[in-house]
Amino acid sequence: METKLLQTDDESLKYAASLLREGKVVGIPTETVYGLGANALDEFAVKDIFKAKGRPQDNPLIVHIADISKFEVLCYDIPALAYKCAEAFWPGPLTMILKKRDIIPDTTSGGLDTVGIRMPSNKTARKIIEYSGLPIAAPSANLSGSPSPTTAMHVFKDMNGRIPAIVDGGMSAVGVESTVIAFENDGIRILRPGFISREDLLEITDNVIIDKGVLEQLSADTVVRSPGMKYRHYSPRADVTIIDADLDKFREYIKENSDSSTVCLVFNDSDTEGLNIKYINYGADSTQQAQRLFDALRELDDIGAKKAFARCPEKSGVGLAVYNRLLRAAGFQVIKL
Ligand code: AMP
Ligand code: MG
Repeated sequence: METKLLQTDDESLKYAASLLREGKVVGIPTETVYGLGANALDEFAVKDIFKAKGRPQDNPLIVHIADISKFEVLCYDIPALAYKCAEAFWPGPLTMILKKRDIIPDTTSGGLDTVGIRMPSNKTARKIIEYSGLPIAAPSANLSGSPSPTTAMHVFKDMNGRIPAIVDGGMSAVGVESTVIAFENDGIRILRPGFISREDLLEITDNVIIDKGVLEQLSADTVVRSPGMKYRHYSPRADVTIIDADLDKFREYIKENSDSSTVCLVFNDSDTEGLNIKYINYGADSTQQAQRLFDALRELDDIGAKKAFARCPEKSGVGLAVYNRLLRAAGFQVIKL
């Protein structure tokens, strides 16, 4: 199959929407990362997403909508808090887990009786959804296990020959996947941190907890609230270790433990000054780090890095999302100095 790269003019977006209506899988830009979209109501179309990604069948997909009226078509028993979140953060990078109606096939929800719903803010994504007239199931458009794609080229590298088209909407603005939340005991449980932070959610309710799976490694047989949390994720081929230390201690550690095949993931070009070591700058603050992390992880592979030491991001605000992804890329290897 030839994979076409489409631009964001109206004609191309209408073509992308027509592919979706025919039950095909299309790579689409969103503000978080690129998604592999298909008709969420068509179990065969959705099966092709799992096939293209090599994704485990029990890892549910997020369903994307472009207008709030679809909320109640797809879900029921929606708590008042969910409407408050929608008003505050939609369109935007927040996914809510809610009870699913029967029109959503079990294949989409990974066999669960709930479904993740999100209304993206990216204009191109919204137009494609609107033109298709469908709710669009879309996981990140990477091969399962590898870093999520933040450019159309990343998608092309993973999906060339596997899907008919990718819409090139430029670099993803946020760069990490949506915040995933569930509602319980009149409060919010964060299942996956994202750009909408715990601090943002605390503006809506003072009852916000972070699920254990966000920062801890779960074994494959653990029963988890969010199946995606137990799988290997975001992994470059290099062996990544997070160095949780101040700059001086980080530099000392690098000096003693690196060789010619080591690459550092740093905040500033000056971090490794004078150390004669290869580095990738993944951003000076949490917002930049979110934008660049996945590209940096892919670059490690491009340059053939065998070992990588990463400076440890902040563990609050958007930084928690960056830390959560980097932890998985590092297979939870952290050295605290
Ligand atoms: P991705 O589509 O690759 O961004 O991953 C979607 C994430 O949302 C995974 O971690 C899923 O486990 C999680 N998710 C999607 N739907 C549900 C659901 N119904 N219940 C719990 N977690 C979900
Ligand atoms: Mg993913």
